[in-house]
Amino acid sequence: MKKIGLFGGTFNPIHFGHLRSAEEIYESFQLDRIIFIPSAYPPHKKTERILAASLRVEMVQLALAGNAHFSLSEVELNRQGKSYSVETMAHFRQQFGTPTDLYFILGLDAFLEVNTWKQYTDLFELCHFIIMTRPGFEKKFSAEHLPVELARHFWYDDQKNGYVHRSGYGVFPKEITALDISSTRIRENFQKRRSVKYLLPPAVEEFIYRNKLYQAKDIESVG
Ligand code: ATP
Repeated sequence: MKKIGLFGGTFNPIHFGHLRSAEEIYESFQLDRIIFIPSAYPPHKKTERILAASLRVEMVQLALAGNAHFSLSEVELNRQGKSYSVETMAHFRQQFGTPTDLYFILGLDAFLEVNTWKQYTDLFELCHFIIMTRPGFEKKFSAEHLPVELARHFWYDDQKNGYVHRSGYGVFPKEITALDISSTRIRENFQKRRSVKYLLPPAVEEFIYRNKLYQAKDIESVG
């Protein structure tokens, strides 16, 4: 049985917080690989402040270079309109078939909004969830963070260290090393001409300088 992690995000830009948490999750869940999935039009973020998708993709490519168990998927960029996780998971479910277990990786801050996502109940029938702690967001995962409407469909499994849904898929909380880095702060640092050293891979930093990104005019572009 193959185990594939799917890590969605705006990656505007990708940083060491994303990369380090993915690496820890890869190791501790013994995944075969992790696919990074930049989103085109995230339904939950203000798109007018998001850098063009092609540039975010280039930065993800630069960041993943040299790590054989990390790869990139442009599935959400190739689709018209907004990025809905349920469609992305269904896409990978179809691509890999049932002998593969899919693990949807996201931060607790993002998971707490899951009940506002399109057809979110279907997601729990398609894949496992790995819910990471997020530095600066001090809540720890507990049963009350499961969507209220679905709580009765879960039970806690001591051996699996997670909440198992009646579909057989689980929600697994995972504490990761706190790297208090956010894309928001990195963008602010660029705009204010402050250092971003040691917050993101040097190749990504160079790319941003070379292309003069995250200056006031660039954050207006969408796509
Ligand atoms: P922004 O500051 O623009 O909102 P972000 O830094 O939160 O961006 P996203 O691309 O939105 O980055 O994040 C994708 C996923 O990675 C989310 O599930 C988020 O919770 C998680 N994540 C982001 N930064 C970290 C971090 N430092 N440690 C752990 N998880 C993180």
